[in-house]
Formats: sequence, structure tokens, C-alpha cells
Amino acid sequence: MNNVDKFYQQRLQMVELQLKRRDIVDKKVLDAMLKVERHRFVPKEYQNLAYIDEPLPIGYGQTISQPYIVALMTQLLELDGNEKVLEIGTGSGYQAAILCELAKEVYTIEIIPELAKRAEALMKELGYKNVYVKIGDGYLGWPEYAPFDCIIVTCAPDHIPQPLIEQLKDGGKMVIPVGDVYQELVLVEKKAGKIYKKNVIPVRFVPMLREKDK
Ligand code: SAH
Repeated sequence: MNNVDKFYQQRLQMVELQLKRRDIVDKKVLDAMLKVERHRFVPKEYQNLAYIDEPLPIGYGQTISQPYIVALMTQLLELDGNEKVLEIGTGSGYQAAILCELAKEVYTIEIIPELAKRAEALMKELGYKNVYVKIGDGYLGWPEYAPFDCIIVTCAPDHIPQPLIEQLKDGGKMVIPVGDVYQELVLVEKKAGKIYKKNVIPVRFVPMLREKDK
């Protein structure tokens, strides 16, 4: 079997065993997870592990999230293709690529310049034209392009950043892991100016860094 087929088979298995057998039911999310080549987003030495049910290291002490968590967070946003989405924590660019398949525009912020540049180059190479990458502290959001229909945070702050709440459009959704070592994935909805929060599942993400930590 050549590499293309091998990775496609592994993706199929990932979708069947890790996503469908759990609670990923959104057809468009499943299709995007089957389409996007996760192995392109991991370091060469981990390519053969790209489709396992785990997060993987991507350098600089950071990780690409477990496929199920990427799918779950995406499914929670209930995208219909017209949204402007803000992602905090570009990392490898994998979650951003999945969002590019399902939303109109993706704005993504990464605090580690090398990761931001690598992800931007890779997404360009893969042909994504609806993604905008910024190097910076995502705690502050991206006010120039606010408000956003959806916000997805892939690093964990110990509280929900107020700038992100402000930059969420009314009627919009945010998914964010909140806590220290162990975190809860929280779904935040803004309705008529009010904020509603729902805990989804316990998760473990890398911490949200601030400029002062670097
Ligand atoms: N979504 C990524 C997951 C990356 S892990 C993927 O699909 O690969 C989380 C990322 O958040 C790391 O790359 C980390 O450097 C970044 N990060 C941490 N604190 C941040 C902050 N304050 N602003 C932006 N990015 C941050």
C-alpha cells in the first residue's frame, strides 16, 4: 500500500472508531476530519502516529490536540459555512484547517512566532485561502476583526478572557478549556447580551501563555 492509501485508511479508521463510536454525529465535521491530512501537521518523526487517539508533540513544548477533541470542539460550534471564526492557539494549524473547511473565514492567533509561521506556510501550501494568522497574545483577541460568530480556544486560561467575551457576536458560541492542570471544556453562548455557560467534559490542554511568561 502506498503512503496516500495508508494514511487514508488510517483516517477512515480514526473517523469510525474514535469519532463515530463516540458522539460525533455532524456529517460535515466527520467529512472534514476524513479530508484533512492530519499527518501533514505533525513532525516527520510522528507521522506514523498521526491518527492515534492521542495528542502529539509539535515542538516548543506544545501539542496538536487529540482528533476527538478537535472534532468535538468543532461540532459544538454548529457551523453552517457562513461564519467568521476566531481561534486562539494556532499550534500546528490542524484545527484551523478543519475550521477552514466548515466556516467562511478563520482568524487564528499564536503566541510562539515559529509555530505561527510554520502553520501559516503549511496552510498556504495546502491551498487554504480563508485563513488569517497573527502572532500575538490571544487573550486579547483580535479587535480589528471583531465581532466573531464563533471563538475556539485551544490553550487553557484559568478564567474566560473578558476581551474574548466582548468580541463574541450576539448569538455566537465560544468553546474554551478553563482551569489549571485539569480543565473543563466550557461552551459559552451570548444571547441578548447575556452570557450562558455549560460544562461539556473534563479536558487537558496546554496552558494559555501570556506575554510575561515568555
Ligand atoms: N489548535 C492547535 C493546538 C495547539 S496547542 C492545533 O490544532 O495544533 C495550543 C497552542 O496555543 C500552542 O501552540 C501555544 O503556543 C498556543 N498558545 C498558548 N498561549 C497562547 C496565547 N496567549 N495566545 C495565542 N496562542 C497561545
